[in-house]
Amino acid sequence: MRTATLLLLAATLAACAGAPTPAAPTARASSDAPAGPGTSADVPDADETRDEDSTTRPAPDPSDATEDAAGQLRDAAEDAARSARVRGTTADAARRVGQAARDAHDHADAQARTPSPDDPCTFSMYHWSTVERRAVQRRTVRQTRADLAPDEHDPDDPRCTVCEEDQATIVPAELGIPGVAPFQVCVHWQDALEDALRTIADDGSFEIRELVGYRPGRTRGRIENGLRMELSNHSYGTAIDINASWNGLYRRCNVEVSPDTIGRCQLGVGGAWDPVRNPRLTITRDGLVHRVFTEHVGWRWGGDIAGATKDMMHFSITGY
Ligand SMILES: [Zn+2]
Repeated sequence: MRTATLLLLAATLAACAGAPTPAAPTARASSDAPAGPGTSADVPDADETRDEDSTTRPAPDPSDATEDAAGQLRDAAEDAARSARVRGTTADAARRVGQAARDAHDHADAQARTPSPDDPCTFSMYHWSTVERRAVQRRTVRQTRADLAPDEHDPDDPRCTVCEEDQATIVPAELGIPGVAPFQVCVHWQDALEDALRTIADDGSFEIRELVGYRPGRTRGRIENGLRMELSNHSYGTAIDINASWNGLYRRCNVEVSPDTIGRCQLGVGGAWDPVRNPRLTITRDGLVHRVFTEHVGWRWGGDIAGATKDMMHFSITGY
């Protein structure tokens, strides 16, 4: 299939389904909080390891995330071109476009519908206690969308919120990743993330054993009365942790991470990052998982972010 045809197909899809538009990376010094495999929030929280980082965030700009039709067409065209590179052949790119079309029809209703302020919004929330070093004040909130606080919308993609109603379930087994429990992500990123995971599974050179997505919690930023007050970006379903047991979060890490430099960093959460010893389980800058997530989804890797923290399991819109 010719590239021009691919681009046209992708553009048509974008116009029909409203393809996710990756937000531009923004400077932000605070990171969010991964948890280990199969754990609840009752694990030492990643943010707990990074008091040295500041927590400035840019003001949310709702226009970033929506309605820029020209931008969506351009992004879809670029995405198709990236897809061809990632998968190596135009035939695979065509297959991807076909799959995207089916996904678009499956999810168009959920993604196209504009939520009403009267719609229900349900979530469970906790604070991380810096004193007890565990999750506390766990509670379930049932409210309407009109009751959402400003910080309960993702500042990097305000379509995504803490509401369970905005999340979609990804079933790894259906993507060729057996033995990994279903998890949730913001519905607006479901197609892109499923496609990325399917691409990784199809390639076969990387083994996904652990995945964490949506997980609301106030685990970062400022502390009041021993409690963390700010939301992790996992709280909105706009972050994913992959193989935490082999891609830990490091602190005091003011270096570009590599097998030669990681020894200067301090492991905070998760397992040691050792691409030499565990090449099929470890995320690296020149590896398949990094390429698929950065080029295909448009997210950034927590191992590439500036600052003293390097979150090797973590991908999100900004990498933080
Ligand atoms: Zn994470």
